[in-house]
Amino acid sequence: MENSLEKLVSLSHKFGKNPEFILAGGGNSSYKNNYAMWVKASGTSMADIDEDGFVCLDRKLMQVLSRRNYSKDASLREEEVKKDLQSAILEPKGKRPSVEASMHEVIQYKFIMHTHPTLVNGLLCANESKKMITELFGDDAVYVPYTDPGYVLFKKVVAALQDYKEEFKKEAQIIFLENHGVFVGADTCEEIDEIYVTIDRKLTEKTPTCLSDINTQENQALLTLAHQIKIKGNNDAIYSICDNSELVKFFVEDEKAFSKVAIPFTPDNIVYCKSKYLYNRVDDDVNAQIEAFLNDNGYYPKVIAFEGKGLVCIEESEKSAKIVLDVFKDMMKVSYLSESFGGPRAMTQEQIDFIDNWEVENYRRQMSKQTK
Ligand SMILES: [Zn+2]
Repeated sequence: MENSLEKLVSLSHKFGKNPEFILAGGGNSSYKNNYAMWVKASGTSMADIDEDGFVCLDRKLMQVLSRRNYSKDASLREEEVKKDLQSAILEPKGKRPSVEASMHEVIQYKFIMHTHPTLVNGLLCANESKKMITELFGDDAVYVPYTDPGYVLFKKVVAALQDYKEEFKKEAQIIFLENHGVFVGADTCEEIDEIYVTIDRKLTEKTPTCLSDINTQENQALLTLAHQIKIKGNNDAIYSICDNSELVKFFVEDEKAFSKVAIPFTPDNIVYCKSKYLYNRVDDDVNAQIEAFLNDNGYYPKVIAFEGKGLVCIEESEKSAKIVLDVFKDMMKVSYLSESFGGPRAMTQEQIDFIDNWEVENYRRQMSKQTK
């Protein structure tokens, strides 16, 4: 068992250190035996997690989650679920299990690796995602349509896994979640790797090589624009980071190109970049735009696109600004890749509002600012 936890740690590092699979605090992993499950604690980063970064849960108590009748009211229900999840903790008591821990319990394999891969989301955030998943994976995968994260999504996954088992007489190993990411389960870490390689190969065959996201040269014009930005009345230190890579240039070319990344695709996009982004045309006064943006949305823009020039991301610290940039460039890649599958499918306003008001994600957002 000790040995298995070590294996889980190295598997988590492998995926956590690869930005094509996991960005910022995203993704989670687990190992289980018949009685207990070790799952990533919320707010822990997969890239440098150690054995203390996991929470050990009582599986019998976890199974209560799918049977109990919780409140109809969404926020009451999430509170009740959180309490049950908390009382399933064997050790350490102070940590909070990943909000997706319940899904790890219902996938019947020893090791689970859940990620939000760019390539996979290029398909899962595309208009023809469902049709293409069936075409590419047949009865090797389960497809779960978009559902607000938390308990409702968990119940939907439980039902989808049961249907799959009845129809195909086996346990599902690959679970695709629309506009979100993928769960892969296996009894060995080697097999998890193999499955990810297969997914990667199938999708690579269908998509073009993405545009380069490397910011090769400093663009003086963009830096000058970034220096003009004023965030009034904000006492926190403001950091900005500029990017004019080939990928970014493609999407800031004009407003039409930017419209393909103007609405978030996944809950992660909202957690780190918020749901509205500012587009500045050559003659627009950026500071007047920022004021208007603040009036309309109640927060300052984290992402500002300058027509033809590039992107400026703004945050309270250098580290957070870098995360915003990485996540937004990932959105651009997802949008670019989705063109191979009928073009991008953004989240609806209702889905966006749910994430904006969700306490669990606010917790994750705070944690990501605290760690280093
Ligand atoms: Zn996820």
